[in-house]
Amino acid sequence: MRSVDPVIPMADSRLLQLLLLFAEHERDGRPPPGCRDARAVIAMQPSEFVQARRALLADGRLRETKKPGQTTVTTLTDAGWIAINRKPSRPHGTGPAIRTCLHCRQAFNSSGAGNRVCPRCRVLDIFHAGSIAW
Ligand SMILES: [Zn+2]
Repeated sequence: MRSVDPVIPMADSRLLQLLLLFAEHERDGRPPPGCRDARAVIAMQPSEFVQARRALLADGRLRETKKPGQTTVTTLTDAGWIAINRKPSRPHGTGPAIRTCLHCRQAFNSSGAGNRVCPRCRVLDIFHAGSIAW
């Protein structure tokens, strides 16, 4: 026996608005938005919030994770971040990303959090640094 709640189609723009709100909260390190948070910025009924949230979970743009002793946290999946044209968040900004070079302020493909100088400047850096052993 399966009991499936009737799914009422909801405009995707409405879902994306809610997804953006979840993204903002997640990026700022705040708890996921509740019904009241959502309704403060999106004109929706409480039942619509529940439906939209459920729809986002069902289509894989949000996921629920529960750590022992903590309440369930709803976060965006990679698909969720892509849906709102943002890069997936990485904890503490580690991992490869586009970063701004500390020397020339140009954006470059950084391999990780410790890589803050672009390849061109790194070459210059080696020439200028006295402590580098050749
Ligand atoms: Zn540079």
